[in-house]
Amino acid sequence: MAITIAIASGKGGTGKTTISANLSVALSKFGKDVIVLDADIAMANLELVMGLDGKPITLNDVLAGSVSVEQAIYEGPAGVKVIPAGVSLDSFKKAKPEKLLEVLTKLHELGEIIIIDCPAGIGKEALTAISTAEHLILVVNPEISSISDALKVVAISRRFETNILGTIINRTTAEDSELSAKAIETILEVPILGIIPEDPNIRRCAAFGEPIVIRYPDSPASQAIMQIAARLTGKE
Ligand code: ADP
Ligand code: MG
Repeated sequence: MAITIAIASGKGGTGKTTISANLSVALSKFGKDVIVLDADIAMANLELVMGLDGKPITLNDVLAGSVSVEQAIYEGPAGVKVIPAGVSLDSFKKAKPEKLLEVLTKLHELGEIIIIDCPAGIGKEALTAISTAEHLILVVNPEISSISDALKVVAISRRFETNILGTIINRTTAEDSELSAKAIETILEVPILGIIPEDPNIRRCAAFGEPIVIRYPDSPASQAIMQIAARLTGKE
């Protein structure tokens, strides 16, 4: 039986797409059969980070009902199956987010772990993704605005009975102004799953379309992501 994990945040730009891509590759390196799906159908950044941009058939087409989900699956780095969202405005307008549940049910037959790269916030598309996933990982930055927005996602997840696996604190630096992991854990009442430091190689990798865990496996961010994957697979 496959499991679905939504990668969500309140605030935009916290690192959901970066983490969805890299965690998928990391889980694949631990032997899991992973599908990563770009549910941020308005932004569609996952394909860039995975080096798979410009594919002809995307999730938008699947949600518009014109193709089957199998046709929108592409082989990405480390054998991860990637379903891009697509950038065509036309198919985006026709896409019906509520069809996502049907798509996820089908994906359960095609992989072991399904990672959903969510849109930020609690708009219709984000709510659909959060409510259809069984599990959720929160991505926050160590600052108060990010945490207060994340609180809304925690409340929504609880209402939908989506199990929150934990919080990933992304882009930590050694600055005094940063909220501590302990404070974040206390405010959100969610355990910390991992801490990923600010790492300039992440942006470099995005430009090359290659996940950091492949291009710079020894970098601090890569090691942090591998550790999170180990924890999730019980191999820590
Ligand atoms: P989201 O999907 O939540 O909007 P992204 O994954 O697209 O966020 O990340 C937003 C920006 O922050 C991107 O330019 C990305 O390269 C950068 N970024 C994400 N995580 C880190 C990090 N740990 N260190 C440095 N830059 C990062
Ligand atoms: Mg994103």
